[in-house]
Amino acid sequence: MNDLNKEIEQQLRNENADFVHFVDISMLDIRQNRGFPYALLIGIAINPHFIKTVHDSPDYVHTLSDEYAQAEKRVGMIADKLAGRLISKGYKALSQSDNALITENTFDFTTKTSVLPHKTIAVLSGTGYIGKNNLFITAEYGAAQCLGSVLTNAPLSIMEHEIKSSQCGNCNICRDVCPQKALNGVVWDMNVSRDEIVNVYDCVTCLKCLVYCPKTKAYMKRHITMK
Ligand code: SF4
Ligand code: SF4
Repeated sequence: MNDLNKEIEQQLRNENADFVHFVDISMLDIRQNRGFPYALLIGIAINPHFIKTVHDSPDYVHTLSDEYAQAEKRVGMIADKLAGRLISKGYKALSQSDNALITENTFDFTTKTSVLPHKTIAVLSGTGYIGKNNLFITAEYGAAQCLGSVLTNAPLSIMEHEIKSSQCGNCNICRDVCPQKALNGVVWDMNVSRDEIVNVYDCVTCLKCLVYCPKTKAYMKRHITMK
């Protein structure tokens, strides 16, 4: 890790990001990486007490002001600030916050897709995989993390990462708890598309597939006592 990596990591920690990974995206199609060789993947862990509240409330309704929405907003703001700092140092940088993608016109509202989803960068970071719930899963947080990303040509030190494979196995809890029947129980690998895993048009963001995932529950249990 070089001095720039360390400086960025420290700044993001000061802004309460829980992790940052430095990822090679140079192998991607230019429409995806927009000519940038590297991406910074930024993550904020979702408060385990909030996860427990949703878990224990069968009728929980996700709102644009709940802790999940706030974490998503915060990670976008952190990405915007980081991109601004890199640009002020003379590098090129592109935040992939919701606002930045709308400005760049690279989010398709019809298909609900961006040209380079944070989850694609997350998978390339080698720190997790996509679950049958279509969420990024890590050993540390399960599915309880909000992701952001910044693309850049800054001279970062980048490690080679092996792509992790799905650890879902025969589990189908997320598929079975989904009230919309939006999940298909498909095991992810790099050749599986989002639409094979989930019908995004049916998803109502109830968060059940996130909070009931055993990997998320393991994260909760490490922090609080479950019922
Ligand atoms: S958030 Fe809710 S509706 Fe959407 S896939 Fe997960 S369980 Fe189903
Ligand atoms: S609930 Fe089970 S199948 Fe769904 S993502 Fe979690 S581990 Fe995978």
